[in-house]
Amino acid sequence: MSDRIFNFAAGPCTLPLPALEKAQSEFVNYQGLGTSIIEQSHRGKAYDAVHNEAIANLRSLLNVPEDFDILLLHGGATLQFVSIPMNLAKEGQSADYILTGAWSKKAAAEGKRVPGYKVIWTNEDEKFTRMPLAADIKPSDNASYVHLCSNETIGGIEVQEYPDCGNVPLIIDASSHIMSQPIPFDKVSMVYAGAQKNLGPAGLGVVIIKKSLVESANMDIPAFLSYKTHADNGSMYNTPPVFSIYMMKLTLDWVKENGGVTGMSALADQRSKLIYDAIDSSEGWYNCPVDKNSRSRMNIVWRLPSEDLEKKFIAEATEAGFSGLKGHRSVGGVRASMYNAMPVEGAAALAKFMADFKKNNS
Ligand code: PMP
Repeated sequence: MSDRIFNFAAGPCTLPLPALEKAQSEFVNYQGLGTSIIEQSHRGKAYDAVHNEAIANLRSLLNVPEDFDILLLHGGATLQFVSIPMNLAKEGQSADYILTGAWSKKAAAEGKRVPGYKVIWTNEDEKFTRMPLAADIKPSDNASYVHLCSNETIGGIEVQEYPDCGNVPLIIDASSHIMSQPIPFDKVSMVYAGAQKNLGPAGLGVVIIKKSLVESANMDIPAFLSYKTHADNGSMYNTPPVFSIYMMKLTLDWVKENGGVTGMSALADQRSKLIYDAIDSSEGWYNCPVDKNSRSRMNIVWRLPSEDLEKKFIAEATEAGFSGLKGHRSVGGVRASMYNAMPVEGAAALAKFMADFKKNNS
């Protein structure tokens, strides 16, 4: 389809074309039922199969151990900022947060509501340009959990070493890199993500949580916010976001057909190398502020010599068929978000555009 552009938006963003086309082809009359899937009862056979296959895909692709529940929830990743302290912060214990950028700060803003809130590591003074090393992270003795955002979408940093928190549950917000690399379930007790980058449409939140954490979670909270409610009801306590889950199922079918997480990781290496090489070979003209060891493969950020040049870069890039490159409004500059469905050709074309733009403007 030649009228598709290269979309570098941070999310919602590019989804796999075969998944979109499959949805299009079966949308109006799903499997001969005479209705679309979003007009079927969520308790009916057709949707039930979609729901279970979506969960099965997540489990097999991410190698989720049997002692973890997979929950499909409303409210994106942001609802989890609230649900985590409500469910998991225990009285008399600390709730440990690692601050690495805008998204971990948003999660922490909700953590602050519990008396045990504690920041155990931050590099705000270095403008969040790197992730901590595993050895930097020491959970408090009595922590209920440690929270880490494993890929900061705005700052463009990605964890390279997952901390070993011993008996303290490590919770990661993997919204912007889930399904692009294996998750170390030996170190991580809960993973959550908004779906709209690597998994499907917005609004859906995926929570992968150790069953023992669900069982020991606080129960004196509203039923809808309780992990136990959703685990006990197979993520069908109320009407689930059926369209988003259906699209996630199709997106994950595509991931499966394209080498699973190993295949996605190889693509992420190729795409990100093309852009980082374009930056590094520019002798500082393009400047990525991120420490080389913390560079994200999903969200690449850089500056140009002036804001006027940045504006010109984005305008000409848009003209050339690259969308979504404007840096987040809080930091400015340029950001290329390249999730699983971004073709390597998109990164190659952007790298060439960068080289040409520099030649014409320096
Ligand atoms: N965490 C991270 C790392 C994100 O990038 C985002 C969205 N960009 C969120 C949380 C919030 O996700 P949602 O909009 O689905 O609530």
